[in-house]
Amino acid sequence: MISGFPEAMLKHVKIVSTQVAPTVTETKVTGPMGLKLLRMTTSVAPGQKIACTLEGMAKTQVQPMVDRFLAVINKLKVIGTIDGKLMYNLYNPPTPSPAALRPFERKLRSQALGYVLPATATLSVTPQCPCKCIHCSADRFITKEGKQLSTEELADVVDQSLDLGVCTLIFTGGEPMARKDLYDQIARVDKNLAHVMIFTCGAFLNDETIRKLKDAGLGSMNVSIDSDIESEHDEFRRRPGTFAQAFGAAKLARQAEIMIGVSTYATHDNVANGRLEHLLQMARDEGFHEITIFDCVPTGKFLNRTDLRLGRKDIEQVRLLAEKYNADNQAFGVTAQAFANSPHGGGCFGAFSQFYMTCFGDINPCDFNPISFGNVRDARLGDIWKKIVTHPEFSKHRLSCRMQSTRYRSLFIDPLDLDETLPVSIDRLPGDGTILPKEPAATK
Ligand code: SF4
Ligand code: SF4
Repeated sequence: MISGFPEAMLKHVKIVSTQVAPTVTETKVTGPMGLKLLRMTTSVAPGQKIACTLEGMAKTQVQPMVDRFLAVINKLKVIGTIDGKLMYNLYNPPTPSPAALRPFERKLRSQALGYVLPATATLSVTPQCPCKCIHCSADRFITKEGKQLSTEELADVVDQSLDLGVCTLIFTGGEPMARKDLYDQIARVDKNLAHVMIFTCGAFLNDETIRKLKDAGLGSMNVSIDSDIESEHDEFRRRPGTFAQAFGAAKLARQAEIMIGVSTYATHDNVANGRLEHLLQMARDEGFHEITIFDCVPTGKFLNRTDLRLGRKDIEQVRLLAEKYNADNQAFGVTAQAFANSPHGGGCFGAFSQFYMTCFGDINPCDFNPISFGNVRDARLGDIWKKIVTHPEFSKHRLSCRMQSTRYRSLFIDPLDLDETLPVSIDRLPGDGTILPKEPAATK
C-alpha cells in the first residue's frame, strides 16, 4: 500500500493543500465524516532542500512514503526558483506548492479507482504555425476541414484535466502563441492546481508577449532548436530568423523570471559528431535553465522512418551527457528522453501519467503516438482516459518508448497506410498487426 491508508478507507480520504507562506505548504488529510488523519507541512530547508513534518493519527503509516519522496527529491539538482520555490526541471510545479503535492492525491485516487490517473496534459491548442518544419510531429494531425477548439471548449478540457488530477498543463501547437486567447487560457488556470508551460518555436516572443505570459502566470517555456548552426535550424524550420528569435528569448524570459529551456532531439549523427553537446553548451551559456533532448522518434512526417531510431550506443551516450551536466553545480539541467523514458527513469509516460490532445480534440497516449481513444467533442475526458488505461496494451506501464519498440510498432503503427489521416481510432486497431476499414460515413 503506497499511501499507508487501509483499502476500505481510500474512497473517503480527502487531501487539501494550501500555501500558508511563500515557501511553506500545508496539506490536510481527512477521512470518513471529516476525521482528521494527518497534517503535513512542507517547506524549503537550508541548502535548497525540502523538509516535511507530519502530525496526526496517520503519521506512522504515511511517514515511510514521505521519507521515500524526500530521499528522491533532495538528490535532484535545483535549476531555478519561482518565488523562492524550487524548480528541478521545467515540467513539474515549483516545490513546495499545492500543485507540487497533488501527486499524493493522484496516487491515492488511482488506488481507490483501480487504475492510474494522469499528471500531465499536453494540449495542442491550434494548427496554426509560422514554421513548416520538415520533421513536424503534429502536421499529420492537421486537416483542412478540422476546426480548432473554441475558447469555451478548450477551457472545458483544461477544467476536466484538472479534475482528473493533472498538475502540469502543457500548451503546444502548431504554435500556441498563434492562438489569440492563449494568455486568457493560461490566466484562468488555478496555479494551486497546476503548473503551466508552453512549447514554442519562439517566433512571437518579444518583450511585450513575454511580459503578458508572465502576467498570465506561465511557469515555464520550451523553445525548439534543432541545430547548433543557425542556417541549418532555419532551413529545417523553413523560416529565416527563427534561430535568432529562439535564442534571443532566453534573456527576455530570464528578465521576466520565467523558466526557459531548449527542446531539441538527438540523432545518430549529432551525438556522434558532438554537435548535440555543442548545442547543449550554447544553451547553458546563453542563460537557458534546461535542455530537453528527445530521441529521434519515428513519428509525424517521419512516421515510417524507423531507420532514424537511435542505436543502443547513441542512447547510452545521451544518458552519459545528461548525467555529466546534471552532476555539476551550474543552475542548468538536462532532461533526456534516453534516461527519463527508460527503465532507469520513469518508463513510457504515455497512457501512464500523461495524455495528448490534437488541435481538433482527439486524445492520444502521447504527442508522438498517432492513435486516438476518442474526441473531447464526443465524450468526457475521464471516460476517454479510462478507455486508454484499461486497454490491454496501454494498461501496462512499459519501461521504454512504445514508438521506438519494434513489437509495438508491428502491432499498432506498421498497419497504418502512409496516406492515412491521423490519428487513427484505436477501435480500428485490434492489436494483432491489422487494421479494420473505416466505418462508412453515416447517410441521412
Ligand atoms: S514549429 Fe512545431 S508545429 Fe510548427 S511546423 Fe515546426 S514542428 Fe510543426
Ligand atoms: S511512446 Fe512513451 S516514451 Fe515514446 S514518445 Fe510517447 S510517451 Fe514518450
